[in-house]
Amino acid sequence: MNTGQGIRGQTMLAAVYHGPNDLRVEQYPIPQIGPDEALLRVESSTICGTDLRILSGGHRQYPEGTVRIPGHEVVGEIVAVGESVVGVEVGQRVFVAPNMSVGFSREAVRGDNNLSKHFAALGITLDGSFAEYMRIPAAAILQGNLIAIPPDMDAATAALIEPFACVLRGQKPLNIQVGEVVVIMGAGPIGVMHVMLARLHGAGHVIVSEPVVERREQVLRFGADLAVPPEALAETVEKVSHGEGADVIVVATPIHAAQETSLHIAAIGGRINFFGGLPKDQPTINFDSNADDALFQAVVA
Ligand SMILES: [Zn+2]
Repeated sequence: MNTGQGIRGQTMLAAVYHGPNDLRVEQYPIPQIGPDEALLRVESSTICGTDLRILSGGHRQYPEGTVRIPGHEVVGEIVAVGESVVGVEVGQRVFVAPNMSVGFSREAVRGDNNLSKHFAALGITLDGSFAEYMRIPAAAILQGNLIAIPPDMDAATAALIEPFACVLRGQKPLNIQVGEVVVIMGAGPIGVMHVMLARLHGAGHVIVSEPVVERREQVLRFGADLAVPPEALAETVEKVSHGEGADVIVVATPIHAAQETSLHIAAIGGRINFFGGLPKDQPTINFDSNADDALFQAVVA
């Protein structure tokens, strides 16, 4: 049994955020753990779009003056556990889900930890995984954030559990039905995951809008029926849906115009998910709250 003290008095290499566009790879103390916590040796940590937003200074959880280690898509090995931790052992290889609730909330009870009033997350509000070691708080252990993975599973692949879980969760309320017209805006890694999952949900047509030619070609190999530049999207949706509009739209890009366009190309009763967040200093879009059933026709006319 480990004493739960972590690795005392040593430092590790970490990529530390010191301010907008100021990420320093430097020596940083190895985190000490409490009796109800664990220490992870990081094997693989994926770079997320959120990390790029953090780096640019555009993330609201990184206000001015924040010094913190980002990174929240992580796989590693448990190298120390506190004496009161049950069910987690040194030597276990785990994927770590980053979001937790640090106190009671209705959201957490129904499983929406990421929406909790008392939200905390590794790499977002707490030090994360762009480091050799990461502290796993008690809340994460108790809420089931540590998920054992097989010893032979590729670490970089396993780290993608986090973004894929977000995609899965994002599509759940969209309730994609067999045969529906689905639009994915943005063909980055997240957009590609949305395409693949929409296909598995039985989408009839999956249309992707994406400005980059190579990404359009790539997403066709991952199951999209059509991949068009953004300026051709409305016309394409009009044709494919016979003027009805898209049943489901996922905006997987942090672009204001994309979010606004989605409101214009949705079918009556269509469902939209704004998956990519907008920058914190420009978080609003224009929205015609009087939009009616003539809107789609009006826009493409
Ligand atoms: Zn992420």
